[in-house]
Amino acid sequence: MTEIIAKLIRLSHDIGREDRHLAILGEGNTSADVGDGTFFIKASGGNLATLDATGLSRVKFETILAAVDDPTLDDTGVREVLLASRADADSKLPSVETFMHAVCLQDAGAKWIGHCHPVSVLQVLCSNQGAAPFLQHVFPDEIVVCGRNLAVVPYIDPGIELARSVRAELLRFDQEYGGAPKVILLENHGPVALGQSERDVLNILLMLDKWARILVGTSTMGGPQFLPDATAQRIDTRPDEHYRRKAIAALDNK
Ligand SMILES: [Zn+2]
Repeated sequence: MTEIIAKLIRLSHDIGREDRHLAILGEGNTSADVGDGTFFIKASGGNLATLDATGLSRVKFETILAAVDDPTLDDTGVREVLLASRADADSKLPSVETFMHAVCLQDAGAKWIGHCHPVSVLQVLCSNQGAAPFLQHVFPDEIVVCGRNLAVVPYIDPGIELARSVRAELLRFDQEYGGAPKVILLENHGPVALGQSERDVLNILLMLDKWARILVGTSTMGGPQFLPDATAQRIDTRPDEHYRRKAIAALDNK
């Protein structure tokens, strides 16, 4: 458990780094599945860049997911649920995004989650095109790292309703493509990266940031030249790209 805490703090610092422009102030949150029916999540209001162990709460999946499943519960009852979900009663109030993290960890089979509000990605998600530019591809590495298909959720206030919408989108995604996405784009809000390791999460967010900056840059050059679908599909399934995917997952971003 100490190792998970150390890794989660390091991931939080990596996402919160000022020079990366992925999150400022109290923006963004990270989580990690402990594997015993609980997960760690950033406490409400904490700063990713300076997070320490006291800024993490360990919460019970059962309490959080029961609330997501309870149609009578709305955002007014959320604070009590969050307080009751804590595995350690003296830890801080978990983030209001705890519900969304629980759904991503449970329904999408992720082990680590990172959510933030990058300037670059929001330049696209807050534009009149929303998430649409990310539904086609522009260069191979974003396909390799962020996946062939991305999930998209239109704007909903953070909280239990957002978690329910994310759950519905994960179900739709699985039915359409089979499996889970690596990225969920929350329009007018920010991306969620779903990883099997903490490195996956950072790699996905850094590549998504680069992809977004390229998309925005191409808008000053007459617009992006999207790769044909067949090319994107080929890149996604090429054996050497599988090898590269594994190699990237093993990289250290320090
Ligand atoms: Zn957010």
